Amino acid sequence: MDLPEFRAGLDAWLDEHEPELRMEAGPDVAFDQEIEHLSKVKRTTYDAGWMRRGWPERVGGLGGSTLLRAYLGEALASRDLIEPGIYSMTEVLAPTMIEFAPAGLAAEMVPRLLRGDETWCQGFSEPGSGSDLGSLACRARRDGGSWHVIGQKVWTSLAQYAHRCVLLVRTGTPESGSRGITALFVDMDSPGVTVRPIRAMHGRDEFCEVFFDDVRVPLERTLGEAGGGWAVAMDLLPYERSTSLWHRGAYLRQRLGRLLASVPDGTIDPGDLGAVAQLAFALHARSRGTQHRMERGERLGPETSVDKVLLATTEQAVFDLVADAVPAAVAVGGDAAAGRWRTEFLYSRAATVYGGSAEIQRGIIARRLLGLGAER
Ligand SMILES: Cc1cc2nc3c(=O)[nH]c(=O)nc-3n(C[C@H](O)[C@H](O)[C@H](O)COP(=O)(O)OP(=O)(O)OC[C@H]3O[C@@H](n4cnc5c(N)ncnc54)[C@H](O)[C@@H]3O)c2cc1C
Repeated sequence: MDLPEFRAGLDAWLDEHEPELRMEAGPDVAFDQEIEHLSKVKRTTYDAGWMRRGWPERVGGLGGSTLLRAYLGEALASRDLIEPGIYSMTEVLAPTMIEFAPAGLAAEMVPRLLRGDETWCQGFSEPGSGSDLGSLACRARRDGGSWHVIGQKVWTSLAQYAHRCVLLVRTGTPESGSRGITALFVDMDSPGVTVRPIRAMHGRDEFCEVFFDDVRVPLERTLGEAGGGWAVAMDLLPYERSTSLWHRGAYLRQRLGRLLASVPDGTIDPGDLGAVAQLAFALHARSRGTQHRMERGERLGPETSVDKVLLATTEQAVFDLVADAVPAAVAVGGDAAAGRWRTEFLYSRAATVYGGSAEIQRGIIARRLLGLGAER
């Protein structure tokens, strides 16, 4: 199935099924309900075949171009049927599993993620290691047929809902840096795993602290080579800045449209609106190029940092425009009915942090793309 055929078929199917896939987000909708709703959307679109397009047949997909799944997320976000932040975990973690997990494990697990039967999380950041990921300290010791994991992760999105975790651990000496890291696929119900949700400022328990107290992980759950976890992380991070940003861009355009439709003419300064629209279209054009490079099978790398900087700038600009146009909608103690704008405005502040901070992205662009100064 090519893209035009997929688009026409999906659009017609969504016209018919949209009412059953809709959930009005808002301050009164608990995060638990949003997660449940996401599973329902994934399950329904998987069972109807749409969610399986663009993924290889060996992991339950129906094959076809990666542009098909880019369009699925775009269509769902444009119709306000998903929140792309939580939807994006599939785009971030499934490609890595397909590339690095033993074939049988990928074939068993990836369909569960695609269908929404399971939620997965990404255990990279630690209290002392965020931007400087190569310094991570959560340790795993090999004993017979298992790894034994001891340590802590933090800011692990959706860990309280997750069945599995793609976890980075240190298996080399403390001084081994990025060479002594291994990636594991961990069952979150393993004895010794403790999850503590953290309330973020937008009022959602978006992420968690996760503690590993001598957690046993079978050696067959190693992703890639033992000691090769850095390659897994470097492969995963560009995915975090590709299709999921395409979906988020579609969502931001939808929110901009919603803002324009909800305020009287003349409320928004045309110059401010023009500046935000320009950013949204620049992100669209840039991310479109990335989707096509991915479709051609090109390896994504540091150039996706440009996409991430554009996304963060656009996201904050959209919700700054909301704050200027309808201050009561984002003010603490303001109009409660407008609570969704407030939640989104507050969450947009995280856009320059999640998926690699804006400063780190600009450093990558300066050093690796523009050749300005040596790597440190
Ligand atoms: C909403 C959200 C969801 C997240 N989800 C996950 C998740 O699911 N899994 C996960 O593993 N992590 C997750 N994170 C964590 C995220 O990846 C880290 O917050 C991010 O990488 C920055 O690390 P840090 O918080 O330790 O800050 P630090 O690395 O301590 O940085 C602090 C400040 O210093 C700046 N800085 C640091 N080093 C440099 C440098 N070399 N040059 C210039 N400036 C520098 C940074 O830009 C930043 O402003 C999430 C974060 C957020 C906000």
